[in-house]
Amino acid sequence: MDTEELIRALPKAEQHIHIVGSTRPETLLWLVEQGDLEAPYRTLEDVRRFFRYRDFLHFISIYSTVVDCITDETQFERITYEMLEDDARCNVRYVEASFSAPDHVRKGLDYGRMLDAINRGVSRARRDFGIECNLRIDLVRNYGPDAGMEVLDWIEAKSDNIVAVDIGGSEGGFPPKPYAPVYRRAREMGLHLVAHAGEAAGPESIWDAVRYLGVERIGHGVAARDDPRLMDHLRERGITVEACPVSNVKTAVVSSLRDHPVREFFDRGLRVTVNSDDPSMFGTDMDNEYLQLHRELGFTVPELFRLSLNAVDSSFLPENRRSRLREVFIEEYRRLVDGAERFK
Ligand SMILES: [Zn+2]
Repeated sequence: MDTEELIRALPKAEQHIHIVGSTRPETLLWLVEQGDLEAPYRTLEDVRRFFRYRDFLHFISIYSTVVDCITDETQFERITYEMLEDDARCNVRYVEASFSAPDHVRKGLDYGRMLDAINRGVSRARRDFGIECNLRIDLVRNYGPDAGMEVLDWIEAKSDNIVAVDIGGSEGGFPPKPYAPVYRRAREMGLHLVAHAGEAAGPESIWDAVRYLGVERIGHGVAARDDPRLMDHLRERGITVEACPVSNVKTAVVSSLRDHPVREFFDRGLRVTVNSDDPSMFGTDMDNEYLQLHRELGFTVPELFRLSLNAVDSSFLPENRRSRLREVFIEEYRRLVDGAERFK
């Protein structure tokens, strides 16, 4: 087994992946057909061309056109199942998938029916591929904190498989601080706390997510590179950075993979994980993320496996399941590395 095969075979866990952003190009065409929609693409080639972005805001506008293609709650079953099938192919064993419920409720879809469809996809994928998945709900910051409170009402009424809340969306115009009461209530409801921060705004956005929202993990966190005191703070507090390297290249948050701060975060001892974010829209998957880190940033196999363990250790699984998953990962890693030695 050569190094790249070994990297593909590593057991992995994914903490930062959006269900809608995982819609396969073929499935997007199926959605257009099912909904009898006018869309700016008719072929797979059109879709691929459409999924190219000038910058982060351009990406957000393209993402919202994909949201528009989902016209029936049951369509989430197929999207979720395929997302997990693709992750399982990369030896991902556990996923925390992000669902931006308010985007779709605003289009007239029903929260409960969508959640049921997603969980049918999750159950089928567990049965077919042995992959586990929990959900985090993205409150979508563009709609403001009052709308966020309303989403918590929905979760209070129906919370199947939901373990965390997040704020995604347009970070530049919607800072974290006004979400403090929403996050306080989410914590009281027993939910874990994450925020997208330092992707499309500076270090201040990360500071505010830590100070005012009490987040356990930061989505992206790229801007922490500009503030050594913040990097120290994240390390000391054990706050995980959910890095999404290929995503950040594709939305021009960083100029190239070599320019991505994930290497610096790792070397400074921050707890960092690697994730595919919107794999279909960025033409990536978990194998590609690990391989890019190996090729462009010199991550060794043991270092990549450390990223896998970080994702397990900072997952929102209950303690007993987390430690069991850790044991499974370590057993499998030993077996793989021994096997790789033997066949050299
Ligand atoms: Zn994201």
